[in-house]
Amino acid sequence: MNRALRLHQHLVARPDLTNTQRQAAMLALGEDFFAAGLLDRAESVFNELLKNYPKNTAACVPLRRIYEQLHEWEQAFALTECSVTDKDERKRLMCHYLCEQVEDDLSKAQLFQADERLKQALGIYPQSARVQVLLAELALARGDRALALKCFRQALTYDQHLLASLVKRLLTIFTRPTELQQLYNVVSTEYRRSPDAKLLPFLAAIAQEVGQGESLMPLLHQHLQRDVGNVQSLACAARYLSEEAQPEAKTALDELSLALGRLAGTMPRFQCTQCGYKLHDYVWRCPACHHWDTVQGQ
Ligand SMILES: [Zn+2]
Repeated sequence: MNRALRLHQHLVARPDLTNTQRQAAMLALGEDFFAAGLLDRAESVFNELLKNYPKNTAACVPLRRIYEQLHEWEQAFALTECSVTDKDERKRLMCHYLCEQVEDDLSKAQLFQADERLKQALGIYPQSARVQVLLAELALARGDRALALKCFRQALTYDQHLLASLVKRLLTIFTRPTELQQLYNVVSTEYRRSPDAKLLPFLAAIAQEVGQGESLMPLLHQHLQRDVGNVQSLACAARYLSEEAQPEAKTALDELSLALGRLAGTMPRFQCTQCGYKLHDYVWRCPACHHWDTVQGQ
């Protein structure tokens, strides 16, 4: 145990402290435990501080961070009121805490519970893309594919960046011809509106499924001539080019496409815009800096 921690423990135990001094010492002690990774001890110090001095809301912020780390979402939710001053930020966090619980409900097939919490989350933060994604997952769990597709589309109108993280899942769920055509319309409209290299391989995959591979050729040429691109989009372009190439060039393009595909498989697809942490899968909260909604496709 470090020196500051011992000092603060000693200080808190002294009987001659004023109320203000005791609160400051307890807060410092809690922070020490937290910094040392002793979350349950930090939790009990902060809770004692709040119990003895309910008006001292300084303990609410670190206590909420502890509950986030412990995945105690109900307790984190209860502390948003006293720990977050910005109204919009508070609603966004409350919504995430509910959504975390909904994911847990869905994994246990507690659909009624998930439904109730999603209604609550919608009431708090109606424009949440995450709520729409979970409404879609709930609809899928209930076998309502049309509603699920509608909710996924609604999620994308709230946050178009989500498409890069959702498209892989969408392709595994919506495999029926009419659904694929709708997916193609969504991704294609989005790509034409704002050409994003991350979407190109998925657009190509869906285009082939719905028999519109040909229509993609001009977009691929445009991409190669004009955009920065990424490994996945270049692998996709090489694969397409090999289809219209002469036999001798075709073999080389196939090899290039496979090599780029292997390289793409080793590269993280997502990155936190706050701290730069890279990940293979999308998450709502960065595991490194603990910020919410900062992970994006790269
Ligand atoms: Zn981060």
